Formats: sequence, C-alpha cells, structure tokens
Amino acid sequence: SALPASALKEFVPSAEKPLLLNFNENSLGMAASAKEAVAKSMGEAFRYPDAVRSGVIADIAKHFGLASENVSLGNGSSEVIQAVIEAQVHKAQKVGEKVQLLEPVPTFGVAAAYAEALGIPVKDVVLKKDTLSIDVAALKAAAAAFDGVSIVYFCNPNNPTGIITPATEINAWIEEAARTNAPVFFLMDEAYAEFVSDPAFVSAVELVKKGLKNLVVSRTFSKLYALAGLRLGYGLAEKSVAADVNNFESIDNTNVAAAVAASATLRDENYLKLSLEAVNLSRKVVVEAFEELGIAYLPSQANFIFHKVKGAEGEYTKAMAAEHVMVGRPFPPFVEWNRLTLGTPGEMKAFVKVLKKLHKQGLA
Ligand code: PLP
Repeated sequence: SALPASALKEFVPSAEKPLLLNFNENSLGMAASAKEAVAKSMGEAFRYPDAVRSGVIADIAKHFGLASENVSLGNGSSEVIQAVIEAQVHKAQKVGEKVQLLEPVPTFGVAAAYAEALGIPVKDVVLKKDTLSIDVAALKAAAAAFDGVSIVYFCNPNNPTGIITPATEINAWIEEAARTNAPVFFLMDEAYAEFVSDPAFVSAVELVKKGLKNLVVSRTFSKLYALAGLRLGYGLAEKSVAADVNNFESIDNTNVAAAVAASATLRDENYLKLSLEAVNLSRKVVVEAFEELGIAYLPSQANFIFHKVKGAEGEYTKAMAAEHVMVGRPFPPFVEWNRLTLGTPGEMKAFVKVLKKLHKQGLA
C-alpha cells in the first residue's frame, strides 16, 4: 500500500487526543497539494475570491462533463441544502401552493431543520424495519397523498445507514415524476457518492445531464476530499434550476483557501486514490472484527458503517467515550444501532481493540 505509515500505525486514544469516529470526517487529512495551494493563496487572500471561485466552479463542471452554469457553490453542501429548500419553498409559496419536506428517517438532519425554520411541515417516512433501506414506495405514496409540492430530501448513500438506494427505485421515480409533471422536487444528497462501489447505485448527476429540471444533486469536499473544515460543497442542476439555487446562496460564499484547496485536490488523482483506499482498508479491518464477534452490520457504501450494539440506550457510546473513543450518536428509532466513522486503518485497529473489550462486557 502507498498509504503513509502514519495512517497505518495503531492510534493510541487518550483524554488529550481522543479517537474521533463520530462526524464522518476524513482522518487521512488534507492532501499535501491542497495544503500547499492554501499556503500559496494567502498572499492574495486580501482580495475577494471571484477568480478562484470561478476557477473551482469550472473545475467541478469539467469533472462531471457539465457547464459552469450547472454548478451552485455552497459554504459546505449544507448551504446548498439550505438554498435549495429556500428556493423551492419560495417558488411554491409565490403561486399559493402548499409545500412540505418529505424525507426518510433517520437521515442527515439539516434539511428538516431548515424546513422547520421556514415553517414548512416535515413528513417523516421511517426506513424499512428489516433492511433499514429507504422506503421509496412509502415516500411516493406520501407525495401523492399531499395536496401541494413535496420537496423530497433523499440521501444516497443514506446517513446514518451507509447503504445505497438502487437506481431502479430512486432514479426511476425522478424520471417518472419529470415525465408526468408531478409536484415533486428532489434534493439528492450525494455527500458520500465517491465511496460507492455497488453498480446498483447510479448518481442522479446522470439525470441532470439528461436535462431534468426536477432535481438538484448536492456534493461535498468534506468527505473523500478531506476539506470539512474549509467548507466547500456544491449543487449540480439544470442551468435554470442552478440559477434559482444561486439566488439563495450568499454572494462570494467561498473563501480563497477552500477554493484553491478543492481545485488542487480535484486534480490530485494520487491523493484521491489513497483516500478511497484508506476507507476501503478501514472498512475491511472493522468488518473482519464484526464477523469475528458476530456483530450485525449493514453493507457500508460510505466512509462509515452502521452496526448493532448491546446494553441500555446510550450505554455503548458512553463506554466507548470512557475509552476515549467517540462514536456516533443515537439515531431513533434505531437506537440498538451505532454509526461508526471509518477513520484511518491505524485508527480502526485501536477501535477494534476497544470493541473487543466492550464485547466481553456484553455491550457489543
Ligand atoms: N450531507 C450529508 C449526508 C452529511 O452527512 C453531511 C455531513 O456530515 C453533509 C451533507 C454536510 O456536509 P458539508 O456541509 O460539510 O458539505
């Protein structure tokens, strides 16, 4: 492996340096090329970011075979989610239409939070009890039962489960809704799409490429690209849809460091390969331990994995924290599960040690 020794060496968690496997960050760290680009850009950072902002927009467009007008940059993909919801709510309310946010539960929470802030009702559709996959048929039925516009927030792969929804289910619904002019708008959150290997997943970017106007796909530099702290994400959509989203993003919302770091990382094929390799190796380390201990887990297609735990609610998380290992919070109603971020392979070796200890105590 070309992974640096620091990523493979067993991590030693301590009170001062806990093992952070709770926020789906990329603990391989920023690409060296990105750090260099940031350092170099500081000399010009007293100016507004227009030039580097246009640069990274063009780089993203090229990466997908789209035009710059198909891209809406956000201060993290969280801002794209916020702007898409505001744009769609505004559009519906302008013509006196009722509007709701429709989403699977559990999922990433910010879409619901922004909708609630706007006074928009949020309709939750719980994951299928057996597979924990998204119940597309139930979402469809909920959209059909609503007398107004449904904004469907759809995370693929989903967070916290880390599993995908196949194109035969979700992409097919988007195409059907477009064909029949159904009052449904799709916010496809693909924050973890770069980690997917299952061919049943087809990015909704393909539908944007076909010119469909009933969706925005959000992506981020926070995960595979390891730039979470610099804040950069983007939406991809048909040009007029992207322009609507841009109206609700703040002007010049990209800092110089984030823009140049993202452009450098996009070009850094070697780093991107290593970043993916680290997560795949980490997943293997963890899955081997789950198999050995007989712990149930879902087939992760992301940089985190959802697995069963034991004990009273919150007990496992607390016991991990006592060992200086921070894991995911509870995701009701699936509180007998835990979301584990896949850090570096060296970090996961440390995790497995603690997991084995907790298994003996009956907590895993
Ligand atoms: N979408 C999903 C599914 C996430 O899990 C996260 C962060 O964890 C985000 C979006 C937000 O990412 P960012 O705002 O850093 O792009």
